[in-house]
Amino acid sequence: MQKFHIGGITPFTSIDFPEKLSCVFYFQGCVFRCPYCHNAEFQEKKEAKYSFSEVADFLKERVGLLDAVVFSGGEPLLFVNELSELASFAKKKGFLVGLHTTGYSPEKLRKLIDEKLVDWVGIDLKSHKDFYPEASGVKKNFFPETIESIKLLKEQNVDFEVRTTVYKDIADKNSIENILSVYEKLGVNPVFQVYSENGKRDTEILAFLNNFLKQSPSSFKIR
Ligand code: SF4
Repeated sequence: MQKFHIGGITPFTSIDFPEKLSCVFYFQGCVFRCPYCHNAEFQEKKEAKYSFSEVADFLKERVGLLDAVVFSGGEPLLFVNELSELASFAKKKGFLVGLHTTGYSPEKLRKLIDEKLVDWVGIDLKSHKDFYPEASGVKKNFFPETIESIKLLKEQNVDFEVRTTVYKDIADKNSIENILSVYEKLGVNPVFQVYSENGKRDTEILAFLNNFLKQSPSSFKIR
């Protein structure tokens, strides 16, 4: 029997799909090793353990109670066939489908879009181009792929948000200015997420961003 690489489930959340109640399935395995990772338990690829009927039963019980199903991780696009099968089932049951991704593979993202299996995407912009390997924790620089994924979402009119987690190594004026210029070139509203530990935002980084925002001609959202 086919199993799915789902490492965990959040049964109910109001913050993972904009203005919708959703559940979240976390895929077990990631392409990146971000130094600040908030989901480190989902980085390593492990044996698949959920059967289709387990996921399907979970979703059937929530029809009418939740608006959306979000696939997160880890990196869901690493498992694009599994993702496609689960998203397709979720859509047949009437749920909206959300995706949290690094955008490392525009080809796989395109497959989901072409199959009309995704309604909203939260995509990470880890840093500006020169610092991408450090911020994503891998040697290959995935900045070009990420930019291509963001452009694809724009072209295809998929609802999306781009966000950057600000952690200590990029919490400085030069880095933030460089990252803001990437957002500006893309024509996308910047969202900066403050690095947090145990659910608490780092107060120094939050203060730095608030100060930066006061003095900056650019506007951005701080979360
Ligand atoms: S992309 Fe997300 S899950 Fe993967 S290492 Fe980075 S923060 Fe962790």
